[in-house]
Amino acid sequence: MKSPTHCPSCRQTMVRKTFERQTHGSVELDLCFNCQGIWFDEFESIQITPGGIIELFKLLHEHQDDQRTPLSDPLKCPRCHERLLHGLDVAKHGGKFNYHRCLQKHGRFTTFAQFMIEKGFVRQLNPAEIDELSAKVGIIRCMGCGAPVDIRKEHACSHCRAPITILDPGAVEQALSRFQQAEVRRTTRDVELLGDAIVMREREISRQKRLKREPDNAGIIDAIDLLSAGAEFVWNLVRR
Ligand SMILES: [Zn+2]
Ligand SMILES: [Zn+2]
Ligand SMILES: [Zn+2]
Repeated sequence: MKSPTHCPSCRQTMVRKTFERQTHGSVELDLCFNCQGIWFDEFESIQITPGGIIELFKLLHEHQDDQRTPLSDPLKCPRCHERLLHGLDVAKHGGKFNYHRCLQKHGRFTTFAQFMIEKGFVRQLNPAEIDELSAKVGIIRCMGCGAPVDIRKEHACSHCRAPITILDPGAVEQALSRFQQAEVRRTTRDVELLGDAIVMREREISRQKRLKREPDNAGIIDAIDLLSAGAEFVWNLVRR
């Protein structure tokens, strides 16, 4: 058995999960939910089966309330402890994604958001959709760098210039269509429904805080994590 992997960012022991591979056998991936990242022991992009993708959404759903830690700089290879190098690549479906790799070829680290872009599960919002979403949600977290973006004022991240993207239920549905057990109920009103889902969830969180008599951090609005909100949304679609 492999020794435990320590997260390249926070150095905590990562959670090891086995995913089915599309071509043959299975692959073990190490996940850190605090840093929202995946460590791949092999450098190549792993083709996970649709069932494995559902498993990943389930995990995101289960860990949606975990504490989030910003990524440290530099990130270090869990095998040789050398600094990981930043890499940028273009996904098959278009769209750039970034990752961090070990020069000694021990593997690579990528965030959940970047993995979703790589797999073509994320799409860019057009200006009309951003306006629609901004009527419900003010500040979101950039999927590229994690910085807060006020979508009422800007249509791209001012830190890393990444466009505003959401998980695309249509793309997820396409990927899952070969997987008989999970048919996604198709919706054409993704943005509206996603906005509603976020608003409902925020209401529920503040209601629970009131019940527990926790201070509501009046005035401090946390940035909305569109990946985790989207993962929740997709999870609700695929679950039966
Ligand atoms: Zn971590
Ligand atoms: Zn290394
Ligand atoms: Zn950014």
